[in-house]
Amino acid sequence: MTWIHIIRESILHLLYPPVCIGCSKHLSAQLHPFCVHCLYNLPFTGQENYLENEFTDHFAGRIPLTFGMALMYYEKNGIAQHIIQRLKYQGRRDLGVLTGDWLGERLRACSHLDKVDMIIPVPLHWRRYLIRGYNQSEIIAQRLSRALQVPVQARCLVRNRWTGTQTKRKRLDRLQALQTAFAVRNGKEVTGKHILLVDDVMTTGATLEACAQALLQWPDVRISAVTIAQGMT
Ligand SMILES: [Zn+2]
Repeated sequence: MTWIHIIRESILHLLYPPVCIGCSKHLSAQLHPFCVHCLYNLPFTGQENYLENEFTDHFAGRIPLTFGMALMYYEKNGIAQHIIQRLKYQGRRDLGVLTGDWLGERLRACSHLDKVDMIIPVPLHWRRYLIRGYNQSEIIAQRLSRALQVPVQARCLVRNRWTGTQTKRKRLDRLQALQTAFAVRNGKEVTGKHILLVDDVMTTGATLEACAQALLQWPDVRISAVTIAQGMT
């Protein structure tokens, strides 16, 4: 670190003392985004240990998943929600890197995940990408790529439809809009491949389902899907 960096870090530390992502308690050193208490109470699902789990059950009868898992449970006001919100809306890309590494470790050791040919993050519409400046799912996908030594194909799947006012729409409209929102850019690229789909959070599963449907239009495609968090429904 140069002296400019040290001064900058010190000023930032004074202006914004580091706080725990989970409980907002002040942290003495900026070593970790969580305090010890929160770090030891992260709501990990342990789904990597089961071929059939709450994540895969959620998609049963909807799409054929070769394997699926979420790293953590997502509860209202819970720690996973704090992580996802900061990752998506507060520019905390470091949280995508950290949780992506945690998920990557588990997938690398997971006997239920067959060899994957490519990793595809759920794409953002280009307008949202411009507003946010990054795709949080792509950050996670890059870390999984590192762990599994499998390439990320971020441009394979495109999001055509702008669902920016999604929260105001009725659920049925939203589902219909999602079903046609994704398209495969080049079918030959995915034909015969085992694809690992990556999203930040799974709540209804509609987004992952729509992505999988678009990919499954092509012959001999197999899909596995992972997320950082799974909503408790
Ligand atoms: Zn804490």
